[in-house]
Amino acid sequence: MSDIIRMHAAQLGEKIAAGEISSVEVTQAHLDRIAQVDGELNAFLHVNDSALDAARAVDERRASGEKLGPLAGVPLAIKDVLVTNDQPTTSGSRILEGYMSPFDATVVARARSAGLVALGKTNMDEFAMGSSTEHSAFGPTKNPWDTTRVPGGSGGGSAVAVAAYEAPIALGSDTGGSIRQPAHVTGTVGMKPTYGGVSRYGAIAMASSLDQVGPASRTVLDAALLHDIIGGHDPHDSTSLPETWPLFADAAREGATGEVLRGLRVGVIKELSDSQFQPGVAESFRQTLELLQAHGAEIVEISTPHFEYGVAAYYLIHPAEASSNLAKFDSVRFGLRVTPEGSPTVEDVMSATRAAGFGPEVKRRVILGTYALSAGYYDAYYGSAQKVRTLIQRDLDQAFSAVDVIASPAAPTTAFRIGERIDDPLKMYLNDLTTIPANLAGAPGISVPSGLASDDGLPVGVQFIAPVREDARLYRVGAALEALLVDQWGGLLLDKAPRLASENDDRGGNK
Ligand code: GLN
Repeated sequence: MSDIIRMHAAQLGEKIAAGEISSVEVTQAHLDRIAQVDGELNAFLHVNDSALDAARAVDERRASGEKLGPLAGVPLAIKDVLVTNDQPTTSGSRILEGYMSPFDATVVARARSAGLVALGKTNMDEFAMGSSTEHSAFGPTKNPWDTTRVPGGSGGGSAVAVAAYEAPIALGSDTGGSIRQPAHVTGTVGMKPTYGGVSRYGAIAMASSLDQVGPASRTVLDAALLHDIIGGHDPHDSTSLPETWPLFADAAREGATGEVLRGLRVGVIKELSDSQFQPGVAESFRQTLELLQAHGAEIVEISTPHFEYGVAAYYLIHPAEASSNLAKFDSVRFGLRVTPEGSPTVEDVMSATRAAGFGPEVKRRVILGTYALSAGYYDAYYGSAQKVRTLIQRDLDQAFSAVDVIASPAAPTTAFRIGERIDDPLKMYLNDLTTIPANLAGAPGISVPSGLASDDGLPVGVQFIAPVREDARLYRVGAALEALLVDQWGGLLLDKAPRLASENDDRGGNK
């Protein structure tokens, strides 16, 4: 494997800035890697054929003396839920096949102007509905730790791109865990910022009160560096928070000293019992807590009695909002149009298009959502779910009066097998047990690799949640834990990943 692709985004940025390596070389190395392994993994839906031109432009800017940011010249994988003006955007759906956006999502535009090189668009569950990437209309992404297993979802493509060294860093979106849970099952880092902290302008809306864009990376510092670039107020997004944020990269660097752990109050939820987790996941979590405690953290039991109702509330609120957001895919404005035989009415065309263009999970949620919103059921379902949401927010508010962060495993199990849960939506939904509450509360959450499960040897992540607007705290704590584990393991968790079959075809050309 080439040394270039093993480097973290921060290191690549430094070397490019110092003129030790060019963005063209770095981009080429990643394109080669994609060519080598993506046939096996299916992380990318589209590879950007102008990536090298963009890299060349950054190299020219540097050569002409322009002072560039910390990630200038670094390649970036982009979840296909984010629109791009130079590459197709499908959101994992047939209904948008061939769609070209006339503009870039704000986060993409910001990344480009900071000199990041758009490498391509990554696979995802259709319209970000799912926890395994199996709901993509373009086939599942495979987990590089074991290609018979899922990479998590909906952002499995972004997590795998990063985990398999196809991209040093990626953009994702998280509505109920889609950045954090793929990070957990692939041994990578995933951060869901505070709701409103990062612009969603140009992120294809699924559930607008929950959606949040954020970074996926191999290290906490890399996530922080990307967050610094994409975050902050955007006048194009009416839910964007007005404040200026601290530099998250500073928080991550400061956190790596471990100082933050001294006296840190880490809340552990009483109501989450071991029986809700795979034994190897529960054990890894216990070990993480012991490690934090050994370095000065205080483990505090907290009660958040409504936390576990998050899944039930989410799977009413989410479909309700999604059914409304997806109404715009009507065959008139975007993408696919299917015209039935005879003399069809507009409604016939819309219905034939949506029947052909949407996959089963999207249809399930549209039906569920319209039902939950319909007259007579609105109060019973949607209204009740919103009340539960408020109770969860209050639980978290109260918990944060006693603790600085809340910790839990990022998901109940390690990566499950492809095909194992696809026919059982409820089983799939229960996977989001610990990630959903942060979305319901608008709070930031991060998943950091914490070890391999003792029962199946697959990656486990620990999730930390902080109060709204305290994203910097998560970078401090995440970087502190990461530094301790790197010491323990002599590297990142990802260094323990097995070789891919396609890597064994390597005839040295890439080395
Ligand atoms: N798994 C969750 C769902 O299916 C979360 C998806 C997401 O965060 N985009 O809705």
